[in-house]
This record gives sequence, C-alpha cells and structure tokens, in this order.
Amino acid sequence: MLGLMQDWPLLCTKVIDHAAENHGGREVVSRSVEGPIHRTNYRTVRTRALQLAKRLEMEGVGRGDRIATMAWNTWRHLECWYGILGVGAVYHTLNPRLFPDQIAWIMNDAQDRMVFADLTFLPILEAIAPRVPSLKRIVVLTDAAHLPQTTLDVVAYEDWLAEADEDFRWVAMDERDAAGMCYTSGTTGSPKGVVYSHRSNILHSFIAIQPDAMNLSSMSRAMPVVPLFHANGWGIAFSCPMVGATMILPGPKMDGASICELLVGERVTFSAAVPTVWLMLLQHLEKTGGALPDLGRVVIGGAACPRVVTEAFETRYGVEVVHAWGMTETSPLGTLNTAKPETGHQTGAELFDRKQKQGQVPFGVEMKVTDDENRELPRDGRTFGRLKVRGPAVSSAYHGGSGQEAFDAEGWFDTGDVAHIDANGTMQITDRAKDVIKSGGEWISTIDLENLAVGHPDVQEAAVIGVAHPKWDERPLLVVVRREGTDVSREALLEFLAGKVAKWWMPDDIAFVEEIPHTATGKIQKMALRQQFADYRLPTA
Ligand code: ADP
Repeated sequence: MLGLMQDWPLLCTKVIDHAAENHGGREVVSRSVEGPIHRTNYRTVRTRALQLAKRLEMEGVGRGDRIATMAWNTWRHLECWYGILGVGAVYHTLNPRLFPDQIAWIMNDAQDRMVFADLTFLPILEAIAPRVPSLKRIVVLTDAAHLPQTTLDVVAYEDWLAEADEDFRWVAMDERDAAGMCYTSGTTGSPKGVVYSHRSNILHSFIAIQPDAMNLSSMSRAMPVVPLFHANGWGIAFSCPMVGATMILPGPKMDGASICELLVGERVTFSAAVPTVWLMLLQHLEKTGGALPDLGRVVIGGAACPRVVTEAFETRYGVEVVHAWGMTETSPLGTLNTAKPETGHQTGAELFDRKQKQGQVPFGVEMKVTDDENRELPRDGRTFGRLKVRGPAVSSAYHGGSGQEAFDAEGWFDTGDVAHIDANGTMQITDRAKDVIKSGGEWISTIDLENLAVGHPDVQEAAVIGVAHPKWDERPLLVVVRREGTDVSREALLEFLAGKVAKWWMPDDIAFVEEIPHTATGKIQKMALRQQFADYRLPTA
C-alpha cells in the first residue's frame, strides 16, 4: 500500500518563493565590494533571481549547464545562486584563494560556461580565462560606473540583468537534478567535484535549522562569514531563507574590525566561520576592549576549533560555541557539539574538554568508525579508526567518476578522517588519515598534540608531522610559530606537554619557524610541511 500524500518536489526554488511570500520584507544586508552597506530583502532577491534566470535563458543557458561564481558573500551572489538553479542550471562556486592553475583546471573539469565574478577577481580571470575554452561569458558583479579597465570581454551585471524582466517561471525540474557544485580544495589530493542536488540542499537545510544545529528562525539575524565558495557555504544560503532569518553578508572584508562592526552594528545573533576568522575577531576585541552584546551562538568548523577560542567566546563574551565537523562532500554539516541532558550541567574545564570534540550526528547523518578491514570499531571514546558517513546530503560519487574508492556498496563514504566515537555518540577527530603518525605500528593523533601545544601562552600556531625514524618508522615533530615578542624554549615547551599525553606520544623534537603554510581554506598544509622537513634528522634517530 502506498501513502496517499503529495509528491511535492524538494526544489531550492521553493525556498526563495517561501521567503519572498512569507518573509518578503526581511532584510538581506551586505557589505558591498564597492564599499557601502547595501540593503535589500527576500522579495527583491527573488524578483531579481527570476530576472536573472530569464536573462540566462536569453543567453542560451539551460538545464544542467554549469555556471561559475567567483564572488564574496553579497546579495548579488545570493541572487546568482537562485537565478542559476532556477533556470535548471548548476551554480558552481570557485574558490578564488586557490592557485590560478588549479582554478583553471577546476573550470575545465566542470566545463563552466559562464562566470559571475566580483571586481576583486578580474586579475585572476584575466590570467586563466584564455585557458578555459568552455567559458563563453564573463559578468562582473557591479554596475557600469564601477566597471574597470580589463583585457577581457566583460559586461557589468546590472546592465546585463536589466536586459530581462522578471516575468519568468522557474524551469520544471526533478528534485534529484543537480543544483550546485563545489570542488574539494584538494588539501590531500587533486580537487574533486561534489555535486549537490535540489533534494540534498533542502534536506540539509532542514538539518541545519534545528536547535541542535544552527538553531535558526525568523528571529535570527544570521551572518555567514564562511564564504559561499567554501563547502556549499555551509548551506546557509538555503537555511536562512527557509526560516526567514535576516541575513548579514560580510562581502570582501573578513578582518577583525570589519566583522566586529557588522556583528555589533547589525545586531547579529548567529554566525558561522572557520577558526582563523574568529582568532582575528578575538584579537581585535582584546585590543579594543569591545563586546558582542547580541551574538548568541557561533558555529565553528572546517578545522579543529582551538580551546582558547571556545574559552574566550564563552567566558569573556557570553557566546555559545558549537564546534562542528563537516566536509564539502557532506553538504557540509556532519556533526555538531551541542549540550545534551547528560552534559548540559558542565562548566569550566569539563565543558571546554567536551567542546574540543566535534559532536553528534543530527538525524539524516549516519556515522561509524572502522578499521582498515572495514570492521566497525567499538564506541568507547578511545579506539580510533576511519570515519565513515552516509545520508541524503552525503555524496554518492564525484563529478567525472574520480575517487570512486571512497564510496562503498552500502553507501558509506570514507571521509579520510580518523576519529573515535563514545557511548553517547560524540565523535572526535584525531587526524586526517594521511596525517596520522604511525609509530611502531601504533597511531599518534597530531590534532591532540597541536591542541595541547597551542594551549601554551607563547605559542601562536602549532603543527605536528611525522618524521622518518629508523626504529619507529615515524616519530612526531612539533613545528611552532612563537607569539610575537616571546621566546619560549624547546625545553620549556616539552616540559609543558609532559604529563598531558602518553609518554610515547611526546614529540621527539620541536622546530621553531616564522610561518606555517596554509591552504586556500586556511588549514595547515601538512603536505607542504612534510616536504619542508623531509630531510629533518630527529635527535632520537
Ligand atoms: P578540503 O578537504 O579540501 O580541505 P573541506 O572543507 O571539505 O575541504 O574539508 C573537510 C575536512 O576538514 C574534514 O575532512 C576534516 O579533516 C576537516 N575538518 C572539518 N571540520 C573539522 C573540525 N571541526 N575539526 C577537525 N577537522 C575538521
């Protein structure tokens, strides 16, 4: 017997329709690339997205075409997402922080037909556009007055858009059709194309708005600092309009002062970003003695959230930190660390210990940890192994079929992360499979050691890598950037770590450096660091 309910397709266009109809006046506030603060609302975003879809159709764009964006978080970028997917095409966010060669490779792999680019990124496009034969049109996200001199054949967005009106109906689609595309930034290999469907985006938004996740409602004033080009913009372009939350978009400025100005001036209640952004904000607040009177919750993920960040937010500024884990391939929310009845009473060290963990899965994500032979490991909060996930917003394959070995027949996706899960289902990442140190057949977690090292007041940043050892195969080397004006010694730092980890986990040596290399998404580039220290001889070797 079949259920007798409607087959209401889960389409992303329905989200902006809902927002326009039921929360039409709710503001979308942006720091524009040109400079001034710009204000619009969901009603107007939808109208202009319809216009954009119609204009794309005039351009010959249709179902399944890949349309790139290389843009900061602004209202125009939001219009592009909805206009592109509304004509049945696929928004493809490009990460401008990648090397130009990588961007060209990605655009060719995706066969991007057009690109909407911010003013800031014209130099990148000048360098790569001639190498992307599929690219037929470059639209610069500005008006004619701000269009700069360029060697490229470009058109100003506002002029281009004005050639169509909004008399358009969203193209009929299947909920399983592709809506968007985002490449993994290739921290551990060549970039791979992740393709989101309308359905996965909608189901992911239902997950994201829950109290045990981002806790969004029409009362929220949400500022996604995480760029739309990082891992599907953490889904916020859909979850905010889904509930009618006010959106505050920071545009190109993500320094501490600019972020603080919007958080305070726009009375932001919710925000989300990677740890490096928050470190800059906290440094700014410390310098200026500022406060965050309206901010209630921040979701921090993309890399392990340092304890100092959590402590500063919670104790000094009264902001709840939700540590989250996810990937481009998981849309991206995978786990979130929110209070549970068993843990809600925690304070002080106990609370911050818990918040070092990446948290629990919401409904819609299944998770397990296995050994190399795919045997499930016990949920004891200690035994770590390969982290695997599955769910309706988790990838089933990559564009073009590369990397198929990450997906098994039962739908489990091998994340490439190493983690353990405890009896409450709380997961903690201990490493990336490629970074874990194998010492005498046992694994040493580099993230645990790094978290401990940055707990020293003189350590600005720390990374741990495995260095070849004749007896143990690999032993940990701690690489440290000292905080400006300090000169903590190797011995003092080793003493600081002693007793906090098992003896055999202790780094065999410490190297002090001026700078640790980072990827385009602000993560420590372990591969580059390993190359840098490839010939390093440990004193114990
Ligand atoms: P890339 O893999 O190219 O860096 P992603 O943004 O998809 O791009 O990165 C996902 C990875 O980031 C995860 O597999 C994990 O290794 C890491 N990560 C994400 N969130 C966390 C977190 N809270 N703690 C530790 N690592 C994290």
